[in-house]
Amino acid sequence: MTENSSFNSFFAQTLIHWYERNKRELPWRETKDPYKIWISEIILQQTRVDQGLPYYIRFLKTFPNVKTLAEAEEKTVLSIWQGLGYYSRARNLQKGAKQVVYDYKGKFPTSYDGWLNIKGVGSYTAAAVSSFCFLEKVPVLDGNVFRVLSRLFGITEDIAQAKNRKTFWNKAMELIPANQPDIFNQAIMEFGALQCVPKSPDCERCVFKTQCFAYQKDVVSDLPVKIKKLVRRSRFFQYHVYYYNKQILMRRRPSGDIWEGLLEFPLVEKDHLEALEKKPKPATASPFIFQSDVLKHVLSHQDLYSRFYVFQVKTKTDWNTLIKKHDAEVVALTVLDETPKPVLLTKFLNAYFYPYFSIHK
Ligand code: SF4
Repeated sequence: MTENSSFNSFFAQTLIHWYERNKRELPWRETKDPYKIWISEIILQQTRVDQGLPYYIRFLKTFPNVKTLAEAEEKTVLSIWQGLGYYSRARNLQKGAKQVVYDYKGKFPTSYDGWLNIKGVGSYTAAAVSSFCFLEKVPVLDGNVFRVLSRLFGITEDIAQAKNRKTFWNKAMELIPANQPDIFNQAIMEFGALQCVPKSPDCERCVFKTQCFAYQKDVVSDLPVKIKKLVRRSRFFQYHVYYYNKQILMRRRPSGDIWEGLLEFPLVEKDHLEALEKKPKPATASPFIFQSDVLKHVLSHQDLYSRFYVFQVKTKTDWNTLIKKHDAEVVALTVLDETPKPVLLTKFLNAYFYPYFSIHK
């Protein structure tokens, strides 16, 4: 055994031992079912475990297997997803389920390369499912794993650059024991999530403190290197809420953005905050009733500032004119809660709309 391979073996065994003592009990760790693992990995992208867990449980209760997901109506899938954000994940999940059911006759791929062919599955998810369920030796590289590898082995390449992925991939491949790729991958992710955390990790109590490059050189807070800067964008939305006979007008969000397929009120986008002060003219003679304050809603790359203007439509003729003009759908208040819509609209409804009309939820 070379010095390198004996260190790799020590590292893997120490890590797995740490994992067995410290891991959180999570339902997707109790299964080898590729459907359940796949669902959990998609839900947990950009989502904390405590936030994703109830969604995972609810999703599997509603769609217990790939067939039920493939055959579901898209709006049902989106309504279960409501609040998680990144709705393209839900839509792709369902497209992937249809692929498995209709193209692969209900059989899941059993390899990393096979999973990469499934809609919405990238390198990370393919590695997770193929290693957890089919014991393929392939690394999962998420933010936690990049951080652990960078600090432990002093890798200073920018993790935001795709070209540097190979360095981390190769390092992880050296470390993964061929007989336990599933446990190793779970362990290194959990180690990053619980022990080698982004800010102020407790290095004094770390099992690797004597081997860790970053701790020994006192550069823990400098690693990993991540240079990419997010450019945040502010947007200003003026929503027109038309109310008639316990019904409301909504439009389906067109394709090509994160809210694709969700329903929202007719919207005029403005180019600055002050423009939200000016009351819009309704398309018909519908009297204005009230307006909300400006609500701020923070997305990953955007800050949305929105004001909602509520109009009471008086006649059936006006109502029909508005439906036509906005290419809108009529939604009864009784089903508004279950209607798939951006969380921003739910905030407005709960804080302004329902109280104004004394609707008790
Ligand atoms: S010593 Fe600190 S920086 Fe190094 S692996 Fe442990 S927790 Fe991470």
